[in-house]
Amino acid sequence: MSDSPIVIVGTLADPHARAIYEGVRARGCEPVVLDAQRFPEDLPIALGEAPDAVVIEGRRVGRPASVYVRSLYQSPAAYGVDADEAMKEDWRRTTLAFRERSTLLSAILLRWEALGSATYNPSSLSHNITKPFQLTLLQAAGLPVPATLWSNDPAAVRAFCSEHEAVYKPVAGGAATRKVEARDLTDERLDKLRAAPVCFQELLPGDDVRVYVIDGRVVCALRIVTDAIDFRQHEQRIEAIALDDQVARECVRAAEVIGLRYTGMDIKADRHGRYKILELNPSAMFLGFEQRAGVDIRGPLCDALVAHRSA
Ligand code: ADP
Ligand code: MG
Ligand code: MG
Repeated sequence: MSDSPIVIVGTLADPHARAIYEGVRARGCEPVVLDAQRFPEDLPIALGEAPDAVVIEGRRVGRPASVYVRSLYQSPAAYGVDADEAMKEDWRRTTLAFRERSTLLSAILLRWEALGSATYNPSSLSHNITKPFQLTLLQAAGLPVPATLWSNDPAAVRAFCSEHEAVYKPVAGGAATRKVEARDLTDERLDKLRAAPVCFQELLPGDDVRVYVIDGRVVCALRIVTDAIDFRQHEQRIEAIALDDQVARECVRAAEVIGLRYTGMDIKADRHGRYKILELNPSAMFLGFEQRAGVDIRGPLCDALVAHRSA
């Protein structure tokens, strides 16, 4: 097993991929990097029909012991992808090229999963990450989630917002969370739902808490102290906290239900002080949280990756 490599999927220009790369090296293993950003321009890859016939830059990777997936940079709009020029020149051709590229790259990760490589996190779970599905998986497992409506139907939105003090946010991502005000429920405003559906959710007024779970264990929980509804642009202070046992158990269970070996999940308390789960992120960033709160997340993550070498 010891010749099975640890693979980092992502570019080393990404500080998170680099941190894991360096952490694994510091533990005495030289990881293989699948730098998806260099593919196909500068990274030769050859796949054969056998599951383990994956050759990257001339090296047959076989069955990795473990795989850390930062990103495959799958879409022209993904973080770390610069496709502006190519899209301007020929969006159709660029989109098709992205699909060719991402079909091959996804297949590599799926093969490794199928071969039994411990993957942080498996791309076969992408449907479980899809937010309007993720929350129902949690709900169906009996875990606490906020009342939520995803819709483009003005009548349904008005009914939901008359029952709940609500926020709205994107279905998939890309914009901040805002409180629903009376002016958001006018005909003109709701007519905008014809352009795209929106997520409406019970407002959770409690503190934002980020919980990191690795291999079924809460590694740390961090409270983000802020006055703003969406903490990201307005962080004030981040501090490590102890979760009570029941909440910690719910977080571990949530990671298990969604199928994530590694996750940074967002939880927030409702007006009764009861934590509800907002989301589980499959490739959660950790550097900012480590730095601000003085916690160690990459250490346990690298330990987990390396542990599979002797498994
Ligand atoms: P993402 O981080 O993927 O964009 P989240 O669901 O975590 O999506 O929402 C981003 C942030 O917006 C949360 O961390 C929180 O600060 C705020 N937020 C989201 N949903 C609610 C809610 N129901 N009530 C209050 N604040 C919310
Ligand atoms: Mg979030
Ligand atoms: Mg998220």
